Amino acid sequence: MDKLDVVIVGGGITGASIARDCALRGLKNILLLEQRQIGQATTSVSTGLANRGLRYIDYDLELTKISAQEVSILQSIAPHLLESRKFLIPFFRDSKFNIELFESVLKAYEAIIGQYGAPKHERLGKEQTLIEEPLLAPDVRGSLRIEELLLRDSELARQSAEQACRLGAGLGIGWKVNGVERKNNRLVVRVGRLFHPSDWFEVETQILCNATGPWAEQFAGQLGCSVKLRPTKGVHIMVDKVGLSHGLILDAPDHRYPLTAIRKGSEGWVYVGPTDEDFPETEFDPATLMSSEKQQQATAEERQYLLTAIQRVIPGIAPDQVRGFTIGVRPTLFQKGVKPERLSRNFQIFDHQEDGLPGFISVAGGKLTIARLMAEKATDLICKKLNHSAECVTAVTPINATASAVRLPKMQYQNNSAFSSSKPPLASLFKRAYASGRIGWYFVKHIFQNPRSVLSFFH
Ligand SMILES: Cc1cc2nc3c(=O)[nH]c(=O)nc-3n(C[C@H](O)[C@H](O)[C@H](O)COP(=O)(O)OP(=O)(O)OC[C@H]3O[C@@H](n4cnc5c(N)ncnc54)[C@H](O)[C@@H]3O)c2cc1C
Repeated sequence: MDKLDVVIVGGGITGASIARDCALRGLKNILLLEQRQIGQATTSVSTGLANRGLRYIDYDLELTKISAQEVSILQSIAPHLLESRKFLIPFFRDSKFNIELFESVLKAYEAIIGQYGAPKHERLGKEQTLIEEPLLAPDVRGSLRIEELLLRDSELARQSAEQACRLGAGLGIGWKVNGVERKNNRLVVRVGRLFHPSDWFEVETQILCNATGPWAEQFAGQLGCSVKLRPTKGVHIMVDKVGLSHGLILDAPDHRYPLTAIRKGSEGWVYVGPTDEDFPETEFDPATLMSSEKQQQATAEERQYLLTAIQRVIPGIAPDQVRGFTIGVRPTLFQKGVKPERLSRNFQIFDHQEDGLPGFISVAGGKLTIARLMAEKATDLICKKLNHSAECVTAVTPINATASAVRLPKMQYQNNSAFSSSKPPLASLFKRAYASGRIGWYFVKHIFQNPRSVLSFFH
């Protein structure tokens, strides 16, 4: 059985960022396991904003500062994944805030995060607002213009995982962790193909890191460990043929939280959302959200709620312009007595030593924008447990999609490639793997049972 130092479960932005950090700190024998595709679960259905945290300013100022700091880091390490976009916040007679009040909040926010180089807002009168965005409802009173950054969410996860691989981490795509057993001071992880559970292998690891996003509570629970989430559901609708040159920030119909309307994607559809509703544990099966049953999960009320919000701001939009929707479940941490939209977006690292499993940790909560910091804290704990001392360098090391391989991956097996360009010919892989003397029986079995899949050992 192969003996590894770290196995990371979950290839969303959290797991991919942890793999990147571990690899950049020089940890060897790392394996990142993802049951489906890198960055294709919650990470792919985010609003895609690298937001500096304006929304949290009145209830989580610390998170606003952290978010602003992390956005400035992203700007330096991954500028190719960010796109600056101007947003208008239009004001109407029935808006939750009046423009003066909102502008004073904006000024305070800009003063707080000014050190991170965030651009200043502009105030536009009624006439100028309608010149800039003629589709807006004619009763608009004026607007505030701010700049936000769009982040290519899945691509950030993919490139982070790819960088980890170039530095020697192993990657298993299409492999699900089905069970874990304790063996002396190590953990034996049983891994099976998602759709072919009879195809499985086991690896032994010192550290198992649970980075399964909204699955984190279930995953930890299977090992008798506690991670408490209060997941919330977020729906966007996609609206066709809306000629907007800005993004918009608008009120939800019941004024509970702000929504965004952003043109993105190859079709140029405007994504309106997201909603922010409790998704009770009894209903909670994130797997169904990622399957074909997805269609059943956005209710008619949710779609109407979002349509009503955008129609208030752009009255000309007809229901048949709505082309579809996306759904995601935020892995938000449990808090009692708080409305779902006010749940903290902060994160927590769980050391399950307290639950009697010293080699097991979980990372839960958080958001895309702060995933690098989440990974830094998780990797600090991993290094401490492994007695490995190395500084975190993720904030100063570019995520470079086009960089040539620093080192080839130590092992990589994938059946549905997100990294198809890096596939070497199977025959030569097998020859090198066999020659290295490090090939396990299950990999031999895997190659013969799945001839189209790729497997490689390079060291
Ligand atoms: C609607 C919505 C809008 C959002 N907008 C923003 C935004 O604009 N900006 C922002 O910063 N954040 C935003 N977020 C938050 C952000 O998207 C999430 O916090 C983040 O993507 C979570 O990433 P993750 O890696 O923790 O989870 P995921 O992306 O869900 O990854 C977890 C992975 O674990 C895998 N997995 C689970 N169990 C197993 C197993 N047993 N074996 C192997 N693999 C397994 C899953 O397949 C999955 O790929 C938004 C979230 C939602 C829902």
